[in-house]
Amino acid sequence: MKAKVLVASVFLVFLAATFAQEIQPPKEENKREADLVELIKLDKTIKLDIRYATSNNFVGRAVYSEARAFLQRPAAEALVRVHRKLKKMGLGLVIFDAYRPWSVTKLFWEVTPPEKRNFVADPAKGSKHNRGCAVDLSLYDLKTGKLLPMPSEYDEFTERASPSYQGGTQEERRNRDLLIKVMQEEGFTVNPYEWWHFDYKDWQEYAIYDIPFSEIDSLQKKNKKRSSAKKPGRP
Ligand SMILES: [Zn+2]
Repeated sequence: MKAKVLVASVFLVFLAATFAQEIQPPKEENKREADLVELIKLDKTIKLDIRYATSNNFVGRAVYSEARAFLQRPAAEALVRVHRKLKKMGLGLVIFDAYRPWSVTKLFWEVTPPEKRNFVADPAKGSKHNRGCAVDLSLYDLKTGKLLPMPSEYDEFTERASPSYQGGTQEERRNRDLLIKVMQEEGFTVNPYEWWHFDYKDWQEYAIYDIPFSEIDSLQKKNKKRSSAKKPGRP
């Protein structure tokens, strides 16, 4: 009996060790330090609808403990320029997701059936969301606060999600095409499977991060201190 327990515990330890080895984000050399900026700190009128902080997402439960959206500084600043351009048309950006810690990407992969995995990133390669250079978003009407109709729902894993899908209403396609146009003008590229997902042009400069939202503020403070210490003082 005792021997059986021993064998079982050795096996469990072995399993745990294998699992622990697996849960590491891929490492890359010569990447920039994370400089994650909270979008609403740059413009309060950017609307947040962080679906992964609610149960209204494809996982069916909250995977973020805080409804917040961050991007690397150049991408965040470009996004604010898009938002301000839209303001003149009575529209604004609504953010579903931005920087995503790597461990959440891993969870998405595990809960997605193999035939649907072209909609989620392989954790072995990481996602551009993990680099803080991808954003999921749509348009809203500044007056009513309502989302504009689009050819598919957010995170709808069907052909309707394709940016070149020709079905749906003319109004839906027009809204989608407007979003793609204004984003492209500021250096973002739309994903071939998802009209709502955009990558920022500098994404290769950044690593795959697994920094939780709760640690970003203190990290930014530390970075600020370090960069002001680096600046030359008196000659
Ligand atoms: Zn995305």
